[in-house]
Amino acid sequence: MKLDFSKNTDGLIPAIIQDSETKKVLMLGYMNSEAYDKTIETRKVTFYSRSKERLWTKGEESGNFLHLIEVKNDCDNDTLLIQAKPEGPTCHKGTDTCWGVENKTDYGFISDLENTIKARRENADSEKSYVASLFKLGINKIAQKVGEEAIEVVIEAKDENDDLFLSESADLLFHYLILLQAKGFQINDVVNVLKSRQK
Ligand code: AMP
Ligand code: ZN
Ligand code: ZN
Ligand code: ZN
Repeated sequence: MKLDFSKNTDGLIPAIIQDSETKKVLMLGYMNSEAYDKTIETRKVTFYSRSKERLWTKGEESGNFLHLIEVKNDCDNDTLLIQAKPEGPTCHKGTDTCWGVENKTDYGFISDLENTIKARRENADSEKSYVASLFKLGINKIAQKVGEEAIEVVIEAKDENDDLFLSESADLLFHYLILLQAKGFQINDVVNVLKSRQK
């Protein structure tokens, strides 16, 4: 890989470490060409530590290694994006990432919606909440509701009306998220089952 270590006078280039699966940024470190070579050879992410003034394999003391998956060079060869699989928490303060962010897959809007649903379940006395009222009815009623919405999707699938099909699909997904939550699960648990089937 063509890397420009000379751009910075200290011969170091920044390396952004990203979890290859969750895509969360775990930490940032600096590499000189020796650190880079060692990373490629050992498949364990190795930096040049500015405080230790030597090569530093992340995890050398803690055992919390960063196992190399893929290295990507940026547009002008002066920054690395490294995909890795972390063994244990990456930050020496014990958190998953150096920014205190939990290292789990984020499904964006769906995750936000799951959090809202979870909050309604934990605060089931919020009178005006439809979601809270569903949780009060119990799992069987929620599951039944999912069944009804699924049938509505089937009906609209036969039709030409895309708006109705999408609207019923949204109803189905929404109630399915509620059912998952009622059973103590989230969409990530289902995704993990799907992933395990790929092997
Ligand atoms: P480790 O490489 O995990 O065995 O940790 C050895 C030492 O490296 C720690 O005591 C910290 O001083 C430092 N260290 C470990 N992880 C990090 C990190 N994510 N960011 C900065 N320094 C770290
Ligand atoms: Zn660059
Ligand atoms: Zn840290
Ligand atoms: Zn519906």
